[in-house]
Amino acid sequence: MVAPVSTTWLDPFLEGWRPGTGDPLEDREPATDLHLLTIPASTPDDVARAAAAAAAAQPAWAETSYQERARILRRAADIYDAHREEFGAWTMRETGAVHSKMHHEQNFAYQEVLNAATLPSQPYGSLMPTAQKGRLSMVRRVPVGVVGAITPWNSPTVLGMRVVAPALALGNAVVLKPDPQTPVAGGAIFAAVFAEAGLPYGLLQIVVGGADVGEAIVTDPNVSLVAFTGSTAAGRRVGQLAGGLLKKVSLELGGNNAFVVLEDADLEAAASAGAFSSFQFQGQVCFAAGRHIVHRRVAGAYVDALTAKAKRLRLGDPYREDVQLGPIVNAKQLARVDGIVQRSVAGGARLVEGGTYEGLFYRPTVLADVTTDSPAWTDEIFGPVAPVTTFETDDEAIALANASEYGLVAAIYTRSTSRGLALANRIKAGMIHVNDGTLNDEAIIPFGGMGASGNGSRFGGEANFDTFTEWQWVTVRDEPPSFPF
Ligand code: NAD
Repeated sequence: MVAPVSTTWLDPFLEGWRPGTGDPLEDREPATDLHLLTIPASTPDDVARAAAAAAAAQPAWAETSYQERARILRRAADIYDAHREEFGAWTMRETGAVHSKMHHEQNFAYQEVLNAATLPSQPYGSLMPTAQKGRLSMVRRVPVGVVGAITPWNSPTVLGMRVVAPALALGNAVVLKPDPQTPVAGGAIFAAVFAEAGLPYGLLQIVVGGADVGEAIVTDPNVSLVAFTGSTAAGRRVGQLAGGLLKKVSLELGGNNAFVVLEDADLEAAASAGAFSSFQFQGQVCFAAGRHIVHRRVAGAYVDALTAKAKRLRLGDPYREDVQLGPIVNAKQLARVDGIVQRSVAGGARLVEGGTYEGLFYRPTVLADVTTDSPAWTDEIFGPVAPVTTFETDDEAIALANASEYGLVAAIYTRSTSRGLALANRIKAGMIHVNDGTLNDEAIIPFGGMGASGNGSRFGGEANFDTFTEWQWVTVRDEPPSFPF
């Protein structure tokens, strides 16, 4: 039994928190259906006001010294660190995350803001050679202005922080919209932490609502960059809207990630990583292992090991009980996951384990003999399901891994690292791990995917400059040149 964490620091902030002027929005706990909070949702008019206030505050912030911007971010990191248990409790209650997932997210969000605090002191341009005598020529990066950040419910704090912290560090203002299922872990925490850190008024605006509020952000004339994380379907719509308005847009979208097990792999290690990559947080992460591609010679033993692990996992309320898996986030998503499993079984996949549920709690599921036209193979499931198929040659493994419109992450298990690297060279994915699971990230790494997993943008590390600034060429000369006119 895990003792519930008492919440204190955020409570006074939440009592007065009014993120919008719209209809009441109820925040509920998926594991118990308990009511957590009711707040007024934002409307498109609220978005317009928020974006205007952000745009008004941004120029002075861009001119604020690099030391001062870094100081506020470091202070935000300290405040975040001091209250991470309380923030983690909100993450568990709003999303159904288990302790290990919550701790990972808290630590990662903290690393994001710490790392962002180093950005203001980085060089931000170059002195350029020039063909013109007597001219000083430089290229420099300037803030984009107002960043519209739209985030999903599944890792609300870290996915918000990886945009908010670097965007602010590099001189931008931010309008942040979390998913309506996570208004606190994805929204209120940010407002409270950065206000306490001394961020000047106006620079961070939180709005809460659904797709209509998101689209109002995308189309608002004061928003120059849309930083969207979510499903590929919604990302396509956001990309179309932003493209029509010629806006910069960063899309971090879905995945259906390959987990390749070669015949020389340490099978126990591979099954452990495969189970964690498919079942952690009920499979509700973009970088979950969605397709287990296993050499025919070891497939039986691998499926047995995966099944043994799935059988042992305890399900329950992650906030109050010592469990390894929590609930699926809502009934609609549960029906979707179960529909994919049942249709795949009807189409010939072998149900080895799971495929059942009680309430929102879906048993970890192993499907073997999955064909490549099965929905469990083609779709991003976003549930605790491990579909397995087999191959005989490395070329077949590569062809299976690449036979997806997505290209977020892949993992390869083999005792030969050179063979693993040779396969990695041929896989189409933004991130590839040899002898490790698919759930991997670090704040200093450019995170993102290929194909339908995004539009080529990245968050993290040096990519933050590419995403949150624009190039500007500036020349200066004492003597104006003469012109023929
Ligand atoms: P979603 O696309 O339904 O929602 C994401 C966010 O977009 C929410 O805030 C939602 O309100 C908003 N939204 C929805 N439609 C919109 C529209 N037309 N215009 C503007 N905003 C809109 O995604 P979800 O179900 O909440 O999250 C799960 C998805 O996110 C999965 O596909 C997962 O793979 C993906 N994801 C990707 C990453 C990554 O870094 N690549 C990380 C986490 C999750």
